[in-house]
Amino acid sequence: MPRLETVHEEETRLAPPSAGTLGEAARLLAEGRLVAFPTETVYGLGADARNALAVARLYEAKGRPRFNPLIVHVASRGEAEELAAFDARASRLADMFWPGPLTLVLPRREPSPIAELATAGLATVALRVPASTVAGALLVEFGGPVAAPSANPSGALSPTRAEHVREGLFGKVALILDGGPCEAGIESTIVGFARGEPRLLRPGALPRAAIEAAIGPLGAAGGGISAPGQLESHYAPRAPLRLGARDVRPGEALLAFGHEVPEGAALTLNLSDHGDLVDAAASLFGHLRALDAAVAAGRARSIAVMPIPEDGLGEAINDRLARAAAPRS
Ligand code: AMP
Ligand code: MG
Repeated sequence: MPRLETVHEEETRLAPPSAGTLGEAARLLAEGRLVAFPTETVYGLGADARNALAVARLYEAKGRPRFNPLIVHVASRGEAEELAAFDARASRLADMFWPGPLTLVLPRREPSPIAELATAGLATVALRVPASTVAGALLVEFGGPVAAPSANPSGALSPTRAEHVREGLFGKVALILDGGPCEAGIESTIVGFARGEPRLLRPGALPRAAIEAAIGPLGAAGGGISAPGQLESHYAPRAPLRLGARDVRPGEALLAFGHEVPEGAALTLNLSDHGDLVDAAASLFGHLRALDAAVAAGRARSIAVMPIPEDGLGEAINDRLARAAAPRS
């Protein structure tokens, strides 16, 4: 079967939104490719949120050193409710501010069609219905959830014009829909409900006062979190992890990488038998979860993880593995 190259050079076309280019953008997303589009906050770099490989390409294109969970954009409140559980206050915020620059972090409904890589393995999902007409038209045309962080290389300023996207991501994004400058120019406000109480996870284009007028005071993101919007909790396997393993010890399940795999594991899952880091990122959370379940079921005692190179997405994969292997606090 011919494989789509995991990382391929794109031609990067820039086009104004029209029935033709919106249809093309939706087709590209369905193929697992990346499309940049304007929202009322900043330009987003979109991938099909259900396609783990597309989401891995997205992290690769941004050069992100970590798998931060992404905001999943949907066309309607109805689609959002299929993906997450809304309590009374979340419903009220959605009633009042969607479509608009407000992201809600809510418990994910299971089973979820959203790739685990898009939510960084968390049990929550960040959802937004954007107000921009171009974003809305693209989401309707595509008919599914689109994971979209800001369309800039990691660490660079958020893009508010199509030109900024082209400068930052040339060769990495298939199509940039040029809808002119973004209205707000700053990111969406993020409110999380993961621990029951609403919290302001990131200040943004919708003022805190408007949210507090609707549902009362918001808690802070909490506990010394340096980057706003950072995780409320981490997905971590319960099974002990041994990193950098070149052999297998008795009772271990193996998370392998590449084609030279040591024998003797109770169970082996390979992140990428041809040593591709984008493929490995796409399968990371699913494989970790499956091996963790095998340990929980008594099929193995612990998990050994083969060395992963530090280049490209390897840095983010190793960051995640190191945190999964760290002692629980
Ligand atoms: P970006 O899309 O790059 O503008 O940033 C998305 C922000 O949303 C990041 O700061 C994430 O940490 C935050 N976020 C997304 N999903 C979740 C989630 N499930 N729990 C907590 N924060 C989230
Ligand atoms: Mg960003």
